[in-house]
Parts: sequence; structure tokens; C-alpha cells
Amino acid sequence: METLTPTRPPALAEARRLVVKIGSALLVDRETGALRSDWLASMVADVARIKARGTDVILVSSGSIALGRGVLGLGQGALSLDEAQAAAAVGQIRLARAYEEALAPHGITAAQILLTLDDSGDRRRYLNTRATMAALLARGAVPIVNENDTIATDEIRYGDNDRLAAQVAAMAAADVCVLLSDVDGLYTANPRLDPSARHLPVIEAITPEIEAMAGDAGSGLSKGGMKTKVMAARTATAAGCAMAIAKGETMHPLTALEQGARTTWFTATLDPQAARKRWISAMKPRGTLRLDAGAVAALGRGKSLLPAGVTAVTGAFKRGDPVMLEGPDGGALGLGLSRYDAAETRAIAGHRSDEIGAILGYPGRAALVHRDDMAL
Ligand code: GLU
Repeated sequence: METLTPTRPPALAEARRLVVKIGSALLVDRETGALRSDWLASMVADVARIKARGTDVILVSSGSIALGRGVLGLGQGALSLDEAQAAAAVGQIRLARAYEEALAPHGITAAQILLTLDDSGDRRRYLNTRATMAALLARGAVPIVNENDTIATDEIRYGDNDRLAAQVAAMAAADVCVLLSDVDGLYTANPRLDPSARHLPVIEAITPEIEAMAGDAGSGLSKGGMKTKVMAARTATAAGCAMAIAKGETMHPLTALEQGARTTWFTATLDPQAARKRWISAMKPRGTLRLDAGAVAALGRGKSLLPAGVTAVTGAFKRGDPVMLEGPDGGALGLGLSRYDAAETRAIAGHRSDEIGAILGYPGRAALVHRDDMAL
């Protein structure tokens, strides 16, 4: 395998889990509305090469509206919300098929995940989506994520997928997120209007100055606006994920990035696990689980909390809510997100995980609090 020289920090070559956002303009020819299949094939070849070295890859792809509008004869003008949603319904099938067909020659399975931007806000859906994503990645599949435009209740804003990509990166605990778009990064001013504008290769902190450089939505360089990209960077970096804004038009855009193409990197100070623990530890607990000594010892070895180790349950919490974990003597151990609500937890506490199905009447997850969802 060829060796790639890491360029600017952080190196894409060292990513453990990578999210790549692909904008509509890269995938779909503006004039003809046709899929740019050569470009897609080259980008997917990069993905296959990156996956082959052990990196998980998640793609967040736009393009459903751009692909569907022509099919419905909607022309090139502005679309009403219902027209855009109808176009998305038609285009999303084509988009998913395009990825499936492009990945298949590499022996990679494509999986479609349609989210709404607030899925990450609802902790129960968040945990399910996270688990689904993990199950797909563990089996080598590439999740292809888009907003569920057909049922979205807000206007579909071009550029929202920048923010969606950052949310997906946070949800999946990705360490690198790349926004492939029509700009090669952030400048001190709009370079098309101001010849003294300087390109910023690395941004370590999103200061008010940086936000001012990004301008307002729509007035930036890319259609989505630099502002949504900087908002995305804030979300990604807070979750321990470095983010790049890179130009995607060239063939093999990810290889180009690895080989030093101009880009802006937003660096993260924490790694995704540490950022996640900090996020959890800042939550207000909705209940308490008292653990026995065996469970406390298992947690100390980095294991998940099983219902068998729980001796008492207090509070009224829902699935995904934070609960306080305490030792046999009531000493606080930390916080965790419960995979069961309070009533379910009371029913299965003290029981073996293989009894959960019989007790609840439906199959459940073995762990009550997964080790990734704990801050001890
Ligand atoms: N979700 C929209 C689509 O697939 C695009 C949103 C965006 O580009 O940010 O057409």
C-alpha cells in the first residue's frame, strides 16, 4: 500500500472514524441534473482505500433534491417547500442507489440513514441511531446519511448538511470530519471581493473574530454559507472531532486532501471519548442506580453496567436519560445514560441479561448503561 505523508494537523491518514460530507454541487451537474458518476466513482475509490487501512467511514450526502427535481420536471428555479420535499422523495432513491452501485465494486455495503437535524437532541432516538451506526460500522458497511427531507418540518436549507455532518460526527464519536464543498477553507475576508484576504490553514479556537470572518448565512463563499460551516465546526470540535473544509470538485478529493490540498482544519482539543464523557458528566441526573460491589469492580475494569449488578433504583427517568451511579454505600461513582426507563430498570434490576426478554415481554439490550455512555 502506498504511504501517505500527513500534511497539516490532524492527519486524515490517522483518522479512526471519518465523516465526509458531500455537497449537491459535487454530485449533480447543475446544467443537466445528471449524476457526476465519474466523480462519485473517484471519491468512493478514496473511501475504499481509506477503509482498507481500518478507518470507519460515514458519508453524509446531499443531492436528493438536485437529482429529483429534473425527474419531476421542476426546472432549475426556486422550489416551494412541498416541491423540494417531493423532489427529495424521488431523488433520495436515486442517490442511495448511486452509492450502492459505486461502493459495490469495492465489496462495500451501503446503508441508508435518514435523520432529521434534531434526532441528536432526542436522547432516546440518539442512542438508537448511535447503536445502529455502530452495528453497521462493525460489519464494514458505509452509512450514507442525509436529512429526511421529505418529512422535515422546517424549510430545507442548503447547507444544513454541514451541520448534519457535524452532528453525525458527534453522535458516532468520529475523530475527523471533512466537508467537501466548493471552497477550500476559511479566509480572513471574502477572497472574491477582497484581494487582501488570507487563507487560514488551521483554526484552533472558534473566536468571535473567526465567526465574523465567516460572515452571514448565504453571503459567504459557498452556497451553504461559511457560517453554517463554522457552526458545524463548533459542534464537531466540541465533540472531540477535528473538521476540515475542503474543495471537493477535483477527482479523488480525499486523496488530494491527504496530499496537501489547501484546506482549513479546525482542531479539537479533546478526543471524542473524553469529549463525550465531559458532555455526560455535565448532565443533571434524573434518577439513581445503586450498584453491588461486583458491578462496581466490573465498571472499574471498563465494563458496561448489567442489570444484575443493580440493587436499587430511584427516580423517574426515560430511556437515554442520565442517571447517577452509586456504590453499595451510596458513594457517587459517576453518571451514565440509561438504556431502559425507570419502570423497566426496576423490573430487570438484579436479573441476568438473558432474562430481560422474558421479564419485559420484548427483547432488550444486555447492558443497562453501556460503558461508552458513562462518565465515572
Ligand atoms: N438534504 C438536501 C439534499 O439532499 C441538501 C441539504 C444540503 O445540501 O445541505 O438535497
